[in-house]
Amino acid sequence: MWQYLRIDHLPPGARCTFCGRELRRGKGIIVADSSGQEHFSGPACAKEHVGEAEERILDISRIALCVVVKSKKVKSKAAVPPASSVPNVGNEKPSTPPLPPLNKVETYVRLRCEMMPDFKLHASAVLKEAFEVLERDGKLPEHLLQRISGLMRNADRDNSIFSDANVRRCVAVQYWISVALDHTREGRQDFLRGIQSALHSRWLLTQSQISGLNSWGQKLRSEVDDFPLLMTDAFDGVTVPDFMLGKRSVK
Ligand SMILES: [Zn+2]
Repeated sequence: MWQYLRIDHLPPGARCTFCGRELRRGKGIIVADSSGQEHFSGPACAKEHVGEAEERILDISRIALCVVVKSKKVKSKAAVPPASSVPNVGNEKPSTPPLPPLNKVETYVRLRCEMMPDFKLHASAVLKEAFEVLERDGKLPEHLLQRISGLMRNADRDNSIFSDANVRRCVAVQYWISVALDHTREGRQDFLRGIQSALHSRWLLTQSQISGLNSWGQKLRSEVDDFPLLMTDAFDGVTVPDFMLGKRSVK
């Protein structure tokens, strides 16, 4: 039984506890085994062995897992030197009690307002109002909770770009594009910038755009070997409301 603990900086030489690969992204996923012992994991292996990342910590790189393809090959000879697979953080805390689930509506507001500022029409007036209140009071009053959960329910019913699930996909893909940009020289970023602006204006990517990102990731893997494969069908079936297709560009 594994569970997610947090995202943290990884020391040099950190290895994925599941496949033994070195994790060179600098920041990574910390998971705990049933005894509470902490281990490092790459994103695809975490998804394979720990499961979907639950709603505990609002953290971009954990949300980023929602578009990651599970690692398929379970290498049996994952002979990982145990010493290096265990985070040697100074303050030894063997197990961390699970955090309470974040309020879904409040999380949604934060995702839209904190993590999507570059997206076209990223937040409506009511979301902006809610975010202000949330920042000030730390929670939302009932009327705003009701109003926004109604919006979320409708977006969910229509499987629209504004649904909670799609907002998470957008945040996730944006994250992986930014990781790719971090590892791509300035003069060679045009392709990634193009994909990024398509994502920001449409709130989704086509299968071929995601395949393009995956090919890019292939090149990156020589440097960042835990750069994951992304689901090419992540946005299949997602609908775009008419007003987002209109010619008037708001941004
Ligand atoms: Zn791994």
